[in-house]
Amino acid sequence: MERTLPINEEHVIFRESFRRFIGAEIGDRYADWEHEGIVPRGIWKSFGENGYLCPWAAEEYGGSAADYLCSVIITEELARAGMASLFVPLHNDIVAPYIDAYGTDEQRARWLPGCVSGDIILAVAMTEPEAGSDLASMKTTAVKKNGRWILNGQKTFISNGILSDLVVVAARTGGADTPANQAMSLFVVERGAEGFTRGAPIKKIGLKAQDTAELFFDDCALPEENLLGTEGMGFIYLMQKLQPERLICAVGAEAAAERCLEITVEYAKERRLFGKPLSKFQNTQFVLAEIAAEVAVGRSFVDDLIRAHMAGKSVMNETCMAKLWVTEMARRVADRCLQIFGGYGYCSEYFIARFYVDARIQTIYAGTSEVMKMIISRFMGL
Ligand SMILES: Cc1cc2nc3c(=O)[nH]c(=O)nc-3n(C[C@H](O)[C@H](O)[C@H](O)COP(=O)(O)OP(=O)(O)OC[C@H]3O[C@@H](n4cnc5c(N)ncnc54)[C@H](O)[C@@H]3O)c2cc1C
Repeated sequence: MERTLPINEEHVIFRESFRRFIGAEIGDRYADWEHEGIVPRGIWKSFGENGYLCPWAAEEYGGSAADYLCSVIITEELARAGMASLFVPLHNDIVAPYIDAYGTDEQRARWLPGCVSGDIILAVAMTEPEAGSDLASMKTTAVKKNGRWILNGQKTFISNGILSDLVVVAARTGGADTPANQAMSLFVVERGAEGFTRGAPIKKIGLKAQDTAELFFDDCALPEENLLGTEGMGFIYLMQKLQPERLICAVGAEAAAERCLEITVEYAKERRLFGKPLSKFQNTQFVLAEIAAEVAVGRSFVDDLIRAHMAGKSVMNETCMAKLWVTEMARRVADRCLQIFGGYGYCSEYFIARFYVDARIQTIYAGTSEVMKMIISRFMGL
């Protein structure tokens, strides 16, 4: 299906180069990283050196002021290659934009060049053991004392939790009576900050090379200038950045679903049983035709939203719908495609098995499907 995005020759070259780059630089090593539960730091440097980290950043910070389509291409190609554990889209399109949008000139100059070069790996820490969907019940506090911010609390499920050099941390700065939307602030916690420790990587059923971890703040002292934006605005900032966060999730999920379909069609044509190719059975054809239709619907919707986002439109409700529908569709697709592979689909060495386990998280993180439904129903006035 032809894309309706404003793709020019530079984008085509960018996609080809990036695809070659991940094939050559990562390729089969990815499976080893899955065993190790983490990717090597050097791969981040490689991404940086080749212009694949925060390509949108201004040239004064080392970026190439690229448009959003370059972020889309990086996300799609990583998803298509089954390299979803490499959380470059989180770094590029979710965390760095907080620094860019809410940081001072001094903060941008201090941190963005490292984000572009790969010397600084980013994470964002909102979730706590007792505050996931219900972020307003967050308990981590930040109190100003003798010109420093003192953080106390715990975060969990933090992507890039082990490798990150800079974590944007949401903490409560308002008292018990402060309304939720004025009670939180964002802080930049750097590697080595006093009182900041990390747990071991969390073992997961999928995203096996992703270093998801718990973070602990025990009288963690931060210089005053590590507050990001205005005190008390943290919740609003988080809400303002949900549109790009959910859109990039839908972009990755759609690309993964498309790739699942492609590899399953190839497999069904090759696999023979009862004297003919698997693709010649009506059940296989009908399942794959249904998937092709769903994937095409997702493609139209996601590309429409990419265009709207690039045009600066507010499409919060629609991005929640895309996050909901496309990630649910991608997990259904991975499951149905795996079935077509039979027992081979259940073997880790087959790509489809990785797509299957990696697709599962997409309906949970960045707001669960149920939370998306809550938001959509609010937009409906319910
Ligand atoms: C691999 C991974 C990576 C992650 N990366 C990050 C990260 O980098 N940074 C970060 O801050 N967080 C991260 N998270 C956390 C993630 O965003 C949360 O897991 C998610 O928001 C859900 O929170 P929870 O796990 O506490 O589930 P809960 O909030 O406890 O939800 C449990 C169930 O209740 C449902 N539910 C919630 N509200 C309602 C309702 N009103 N009505 C009906 N049902 C409801 C949920 O949909 C879910 O099914 C990550 C999680 C994982 C697993």
